Amino acid sequence: MASLNEKKALITASGQGIGRASALAFARAGARVVATDINAAALDGLADEARAEGLALQTRVVDVLKDEAVNAVVSETGPFDILFNCAGVVHGGTVLEMADSDLDFAFDLNVRAMIRTIRAVLPAMLERGDGSIINMASVASSVKGVPNRCAYTVTKAAVIGLTKSVAADYVTQGIRCNAICPGTVESPSLQDRMRAQGDYDAARAAFIARQPMGRLGTPGEIADLAVYIAGATYTSGQAFAIDGGWTI
Ligand code: NAD
Repeated sequence: MASLNEKKALITASGQGIGRASALAFARAGARVVATDINAAALDGLADEARAEGLALQTRVVDVLKDEAVNAVVSETGPFDILFNCAGVVHGGTVLEMADSDLDFAFDLNVRAMIRTIRAVLPAMLERGDGSIINMASVASSVKGVPNRCAYTVTKAAVIGLTKSVAADYVTQGIRCNAICPGTVESPSLQDRMRAQGDYDAARAAFIARQPMGRLGTPGEIADLAVYIAGATYTSGQAFAIDGGWTI
């Protein structure tokens, strides 16, 4: 696997969960990391942890819904060799139940924000003829229908389409673009979803039961795959499932 030494990586949603684990994993693999999120306090905690380990990681508050914020972080801290688009939101509901406002927001955060960050980093990647873009999708997408997740599944399917589109357009110019499709991963927002169901223990058991491996994934396991994909030089346009066997 190619080394990430001296590679510069921009990661969104690094304040908690998979994005945070990935920011640390990329830095431990030798990359210089710009870890971003809207949650300044969460980023402060990440910066402390990175400093204690002596990692090359800086944090920036960036709202990926805003052009100015994304363009500013790229012009002030880029150019980037790696972009990991990790920001995303889960809404519940079937096609009959989901609010149009939820669908709009899911498209804004899960899809349009990725297009925004890709547009910001891609020109410099093309100039150098090298770049690895990783988009966070889910097995709940074009890979697998999951009950009560219409807006999420629609938008994560769009992430896979975006990934394949970027991969096809730039494959001859040194750019790789791949998607990661996790199953159920222990993270703060998953905890929120389990608590929101009322009976936490029953909700947790149901989430665990989806995976034949009999457990949830960890953010670190997804981060390890992201590091691998960032350095994998002979793959593009793929959707890598990492799901405890959910889609076997
Ligand atoms: P999470 O949902 O717990 O945290 C999300 C982070 O995104 C937070 O730190 C939040 O502050 C940040 N964020 C929210 N809006 C933002 C914005 N506008 N700009 C910048 N940052 C913003 O983390 P998670 O559960 O690890 O999920 C991360 C990604 O992985 C998401 O795209 C999610 O859809 C995907 N995913 C998660 C799971 C899972 O089971 N946890 C499964 C499959 C895919």
